[in-house]
Amino acid sequence: MKYTIATIASHSSLQILKGAKDEGFTTLAIATNDKVSFYKRFKFIDEIISIDSYSRFYDLENQLKKKKVIIVPHGSFVAYLGKEGDKKISLSYFGNKKILAIEGDRMKQYRWLKDANLNLPKIFTHVEEVDRVVIVKLHGAMGGSGYFIAKNQTDLKLKLKKYNWIKNDYIIQEYIIGVPVYLQYFYSPLSKNLELMGIDRRYESNVDGIGRIPSNMQQEINTSPSYTVIGNFPIVLRESLLPKVYEMGEKVVAVSKRLVPPDGLYGPFCLETIVTADQQFYCIEISCRIVAGTNLYILGSPYTDLTFKEPMSTGRRIALEIKRAIREDKLHLITD
Ligand code: AMP
Ligand code: AMP
Repeated sequence: MKYTIATIASHSSLQILKGAKDEGFTTLAIATNDKVSFYKRFKFIDEIISIDSYSRFYDLENQLKKKKVIIVPHGSFVAYLGKEGDKKISLSYFGNKKILAIEGDRMKQYRWLKDANLNLPKIFTHVEEVDRVVIVKLHGAMGGSGYFIAKNQTDLKLKLKKYNWIKNDYIIQEYIIGVPVYLQYFYSPLSKNLELMGIDRRYESNVDGIGRIPSNMQQEINTSPSYTVIGNFPIVLRESLLPKVYEMGEKVVAVSKRLVPPDGLYGPFCLETIVTADQQFYCIEISCRIVAGTNLYILGSPYTDLTFKEPMSTGRRIALEIKRAIREDKLHLITD
């Protein structure tokens, strides 16, 4: 019997299921009732199972096991099932859950990226040490809505007081002035090769909207920036920056193998970076699964076009890896 590739209907599910279909898999979407009619529009989805709420996901597991389902996780899994809920999934799951646990812990993630020699924004543990522009991030803030920027120590103290934020509930990070660039990678444990799948930047509300009104008005309306993602733009980098992009990805993968031996990080991942005027990448975060910015490249990106003969989305790349693993009897190497 053929394997079925399944995912929760949201985030990058259209790309994942389209890619799976292109590689010859049966496809399945798990959708909440209100989303079923939307997902029915897409003929590459063979079956849609509707549920009342995401918490009912686990009730489906026996039914899904009979269909030889391989779950491909994306950003909605943590957003809707929670960190623990995601771990609880007992189905064949594409990716390394142990790496996701490290990603989910800010300090562990910081040490990982530091060990990989990436430039990271400085973290201030005491307000008194702050000597530059900083961004303050509330722990667990979704979509950057619990963030603010302070121009110096005095401003920071004022704002912390104003918002009545509780110590230890936030981190104070150096604000990097530069261009946000999101690097989408894929590491294949089968070929042991790192691929650059695409690069994007986000379109965020309201930080990208504030610049559309004159600065005197910006001050009058006294709004503060939020970072809720609304969409993504494609970017290609200066070619001379690309060697660094590969070097960073390879180091991150190498260190991950020490953190979680022997497999480490594999499949799609993304380094969220800011590139400064002196062409340095500062990494603000790593995401260890498919990011929604890859939706730009359902037809492939300028980078995948250099290595693949056919249009290769990240979703399709995942299916290709699963197909190869099945053929070589190595599914255990890419599922958890
Ligand atoms: P959604 O399923 O669209 O509600 O998104 C689930 C999670 O993925 C949320 O945490 C979103 O912030 C994140 N997300 C969704 N779309 C994007 C995007 N285009 N870029 C970055 N993050 C996204
Ligand atoms: P995050 O929730 O960490 O993905 O951050 C949301 C947005 O805030 C990013 O897309 C960046 O535009 C911005 N941001 C976060 N951290 C920094 C930083 N240290 N310096 C500059 N911008 C940042």
